[in-house]
Amino acid sequence: MSDFKTARDFGRFKIIEITRAAKAAHLASALSCYDMIYYLYNHYMKINAIDDPKRDRFILSKGHAAAALYVSMYQASLLSAEELNSFGSIGSILEEHPSPKLNGIETASGSLGHGLAVAVGMALANKNKNIKNNNIVLMGDGEQNEGSVWEAALFASANSLDNLTGIIDYNKWQATDRSNEVLALNPLSSKWESFGWQSLEINGHDLNAFRDALNFKATGKPKIIVSHTIKGKGISFMEDDNNWHYRLPNEEEMLVIARELNQ
Ligand SMILES: [Mg+2]
Repeated sequence: MSDFKTARDFGRFKIIEITRAAKAAHLASALSCYDMIYYLYNHYMKINAIDDPKRDRFILSKGHAAAALYVSMYQASLLSAEELNSFGSIGSILEEHPSPKLNGIETASGSLGHGLAVAVGMALANKNKNIKNNNIVLMGDGEQNEGSVWEAALFASANSLDNLTGIIDYNKWQATDRSNEVLALNPLSSKWESFGWQSLEINGHDLNAFRDALNFKATGKPKIIVSHTIKGKGISFMEDDNNWHYRLPNEEEMLVIARELNQ
């Protein structure tokens, strides 16, 4: 899928540009999950109209990566350039964490550990209404420390929610430390399997693998995609360097970024 490279290079550059303009944080966290969110909005989810109750649903539970969500929505023509460029400014509907003030955002997120529970509720409601849509939630690896995640996981499998897909952006960092040093997660896939979920483990930057995982039918059970990713993906000097959790590039670094992303 090399034809997607140009669109994703553009998207990465926009993420950096709007985050820098807003003097916001979490640039590297947005870059780690951007490939997947780009694919969801631009090549997978069915959203005929943003207010169609039968549309596919997406929750970015790691709400601090909002810039990746907004750029993906912009690329899917769900946001205007003016809206995108207002990111993080006073009065903008594009807040640094997603808010339902923006049409198409299902719930406020960023207080970690809540997105899965909301997605479970949506999946159950849609199933009860016989709506055949996809209900998708993307979580961080650090979020796997939250007890509410596992409570929702139990409920989802008990209710056979095969219209629900969880994605873990497993970038091996949480805030300022290695996630497996803060609290050991491994073996992560088998933990989810023991909770009654179908687990698939992929490279989260390989869109062919991501597409196949999304299309995998887990009959009678919810599905989790454990996606191995790189924090700061796409910029040579940001990849897996956790200084970029909060840092923003200077003018000189912006020139290197523009060159690396062909902008
Ligand atoms: Mg992480």
